[in-house]
Amino acid sequence: MEITLSQYAGFCEGVERAYDIVEKIAKDPKVKRPIFVLGSLVHNEDVVEKIEKMGIQKVHVEGPLEDFFEKIKKEVGTLVITAHGIGPQIYELAKKYKVDLVDTTCPRVVKVQRLAKAFFDRDAQIVIIGEKNHKEVKGIFEWANKRAIFIETDEDLCGFDVDHTKKIAVISQTTQDQEFVDRAAAQISQKYPNAEVVDSICLTTHHRQTEIKQLAQENNVVIVIGSPESANSKRLWEIAKRVNESSYFVQRASEIEKKWFADCKKVAVTAGASTPGWIIEEVMREIKNI
Ligand code: SF4
Repeated sequence: MEITLSQYAGFCEGVERAYDIVEKIAKDPKVKRPIFVLGSLVHNEDVVEKIEKMGIQKVHVEGPLEDFFEKIKKEVGTLVITAHGIGPQIYELAKKYKVDLVDTTCPRVVKVQRLAKAFFDRDAQIVIIGEKNHKEVKGIFEWANKRAIFIETDEDLCGFDVDHTKKIAVISQTTQDQEFVDRAAAQISQKYPNAEVVDSICLTTHHRQTEIKQLAQENNVVIVIGSPESANSKRLWEIAKRVNESSYFVQRASEIEKKWFADCKKVAVTAGASTPGWIIEEVMREIKNI
């Protein structure tokens, strides 16, 4: 059986960068303790566990951010912002409550946040193509001063209506499905020809999605490795499945089933942007054993 590993499998540049920063600060005695990270650094349990072993705990924000700072101000020395980014309020609050911030927001996400702010400052009607409950999208929404419309599904496009007197500005979640964004952008532009559409899907996502379509066509079986909480991993699997029915989503090597490979001559393996290399290696070993 021929096994092809995607050239993009695993941590993307943004996640790699965030992980490296966290590893560095965990060893740096000058960084104020205790260190907490705002939610999961990446959507992967194994990585979260590894970070906890470095002495960095996960903390969640429930309710208004100001209440959160009021509660944690004496318990936290340093707070890490994840690669997904967060709204602008955190920077003022950290100063006010004297909590040190380590910002690992991916530069590509920062670009979309800045766009959202610029469009808001120009009083545009902002449309975000993305999942409104996703961490990155919530942050972008806050940079848009919480004044944006979301397009999450094709159904949202059907009833889509905006204030005609305003300029319409369209941006997208960096890890959205490229086909969906293209479809949504085309429909919006047709209905509102003056809409300014910015394709803000990150290049890494674009390459991964293009590659998985091809791999799904050329192979009998496709294995996508990721956490069920990882939106970009699930998206890769959905794209593969559209092309090849024999596409499977696994979190780790133990979930691989021998029966998937009956009569299989060629298998492709890929992994979402939050899947660490050690899990990919385990899965590769398991498939080779089969
Ligand atoms: S998927 Fe793209 S935007 Fe998101 S963290 Fe990775 S490199 Fe950055």
